[in-house]
Amino acid sequence: MAIDRRDFLKFAVGGAVGTMLTPLPWVSMDEAAKWTQRWGPVLQRGGTSFLNSVCRLCPGGCGIRIRLIEQKRAVKIEGNPNHPVNRGGLCPLGLAGLQYLYYEENRIKTPLKRDGARGFGDWRPITWEEALYQITVRLKELREKDLPHTVALVDGEKPGSQSQLLARFLKAYGSPNYIRPFQLSELEEIVTQTLHGVRAGITLDLPRSRYILSFGAALLDGWGNPSWVGQAFQEWRQESQKAKARLVQIEPLASTTASMADEWVAIRPGTEGILALGLAQVMIEKGWFHKELVQARTIGLEGLRDLLNKNYTPDQTAKTTEIPKETIEKLAQDFSSAEQPVALWGKGKGELPISLFEAQAIHILNILAGSINRPGGVYLQPGFPYISWPKLSLDKTAEKGLAQPRLDGAMSPKYPKTGNLACNLFENAARKTPYPVNLLFLNEVNPVFCLGERHFLRALEKIPFVVCFSSFMDETANLADLILPVSNFLERWDDSYNCQGVPFPIYGLTKPVFPPLYDTKSSGETILALAKNLGEKVEEAFPFEKIEEVFKQAARGLFNSKKGRLTDGPLPEAGKYAPAHFESFDKFWEQLVAQGTWYDLENKSEGGKGKWDFSAATLQAPAPRPQSLKEYPLWLIPQSLMLLQSGYLPNPPFLTKYLGEEVLIKNTLVVQIHPETARSLSLSEGSPVEIQSANGRIKALIHLFEGARPGCVFVPLGMGHKAFDPTLKDRGANPYPILDSVVDPQTGMEVAWATRVKIVKV
Ligand code: SF4
Repeated sequence: MAIDRRDFLKFAVGGAVGTMLTPLPWVSMDEAAKWTQRWGPVLQRGGTSFLNSVCRLCPGGCGIRIRLIEQKRAVKIEGNPNHPVNRGGLCPLGLAGLQYLYYEENRIKTPLKRDGARGFGDWRPITWEEALYQITVRLKELREKDLPHTVALVDGEKPGSQSQLLARFLKAYGSPNYIRPFQLSELEEIVTQTLHGVRAGITLDLPRSRYILSFGAALLDGWGNPSWVGQAFQEWRQESQKAKARLVQIEPLASTTASMADEWVAIRPGTEGILALGLAQVMIEKGWFHKELVQARTIGLEGLRDLLNKNYTPDQTAKTTEIPKETIEKLAQDFSSAEQPVALWGKGKGELPISLFEAQAIHILNILAGSINRPGGVYLQPGFPYISWPKLSLDKTAEKGLAQPRLDGAMSPKYPKTGNLACNLFENAARKTPYPVNLLFLNEVNPVFCLGERHFLRALEKIPFVVCFSSFMDETANLADLILPVSNFLERWDDSYNCQGVPFPIYGLTKPVFPPLYDTKSSGETILALAKNLGEKVEEAFPFEKIEEVFKQAARGLFNSKKGRLTDGPLPEAGKYAPAHFESFDKFWEQLVAQGTWYDLENKSEGGKGKWDFSAATLQAPAPRPQSLKEYPLWLIPQSLMLLQSGYLPNPPFLTKYLGEEVLIKNTLVVQIHPETARSLSLSEGSPVEIQSANGRIKALIHLFEGARPGCVFVPLGMGHKAFDPTLKDRGANPYPILDSVVDPQTGMEVAWATRVKIVKV
């Protein structure tokens, strides 16, 4: 049998992927996890018990079981087989979760106050009383001066009751500046608000999809909930489905997902939205769309047709995307004629901000194909009222503070639909615009790593007091004035709302497996204590004696809904789902604490009352920054990898150990380029280079890969830390600071996908 280049690529890359997806290596991985999780002193003897909980390492919300020895030492995390999403499976990060708990070298063990200059690492351990006193004094003083709005809080916690608690605290205190970093879910809500006239989440019925058109979603590298996507992938590859299910991956690299796809389209970087509109043009012109749904539910088709005929004909699209016209027509035909097709957006793991233009353009394909609120398609999911907070009564100081504009410019007349623009906060703080920041809280975020130190330091010079809630001495905590150590998710009460991308409501409750190993608290506990210290209306906003009561309040909402059931037994067979009945709230709460997860398979999707309006889509791509192609002839494409965390969480040692030589060789980062590109630059395998953009430079080694689109450099995200233990510190390079971004004119979000760079041999 002849093996062509494509097949060889599939084999070479697919082999690596296979180790993650086939059952046998999963068992080996599990064994490795067990081995690695046993580092440090482990009790040799003792009774074994299991506790159900929920993983909080990503917004996936998987159900977990923690194996304990003598109820003192956690020795293993495994998937809960009764959980409707992960069904006993876990991603490698979840398997390695105990390393965050026993990460002794990196965990902060007590509140710390800075001594000496910022960033010099002189810390003095203090008591919680002293830490809370230091903050309370400042918060009181700012309120007395009518300056509560100059307090800001950037919250990187996954959505749940605790993040709502933090947002409510700022509101009761009188600051409009509760700010979250970019989340794909927010962009999804803007898409539904503009196109469907209703603000809803976008969820996916992937296991039943039969044609998956993925615009750069790293489906097999951590996109959405990896367990959910993994099950869908297995479903698509079942013998009975093989002929029907087809995965088409559109991205410039033969990534893990592209290599496992049925078709890989190596698009010119940054033109995904244009390709989507090119496909829409063909579908409308040829009449290959779901006429019944489009006629019944939409308006504005004629205007859309005119626009597409003017700017997005196959010839025009082929020229911009560098995809042959015939391929464009074939993709449009295959997508529109497939049973249960779906088009996906959200690059990498979904953490790389894309433009509203791109998201809307791709979503239009779903509308044209009739894939909204249909099996295998996209479900618009209304928010579920997990928690109903007591009515908030504000005092005059808070009312005045909340009347001020936000520091990040979100929800302003310019960006009325955008709830958070964290990207603007540090720039505005540095310029003291629209007013200075006097106190900054950072909760589980690491902006120094994700934005670069220079950017953050400019803002820091103008902020007199920075408080960091963090479990680790990361790059940002190291520059703070006060560090409040956060309990690990196995040591605290917490919860999660929904599993990312899953088309039914699901609530996960996390409980302390044992008391905190060190002198730590959850950020929710700290906020309750601060509210108490501030007294009056701020204290009144939180009628909870203990943090546990906040989650009980959320549970009451579930109980009162009379919907759903708990993970207290095997999953119901298809068509046999029924909500559970509980005689009292106390019984429900007791069972929820024991089982960890509530879910409702009878979820109703949201379609809005009005028509879905194509003309509401502002189909204008953000203009790339004008840069000299001569000076910077290549595209740098950041890559998200399943085995590499690239945000607040450091990579656990177990996963770093598994990184291949296409990511890291000894302590040097490896970047991938096509052999042709290498030849044109006189580079060869292993050449040491510098990747330079207009924003900075990083060092790397070259890896030649036929599956890399010529003219591009593919750089993994997540290495290059200046903090943490020797498994991470000073290993590889961090590409975030050299990425370029443009501001999306519709949302105000910074879109950072492809950056112009040059490679210099060193
Ligand atoms: S997908 Fe997320 S929630 Fe699930 S096991 Fe992995 S890290 Fe935990």
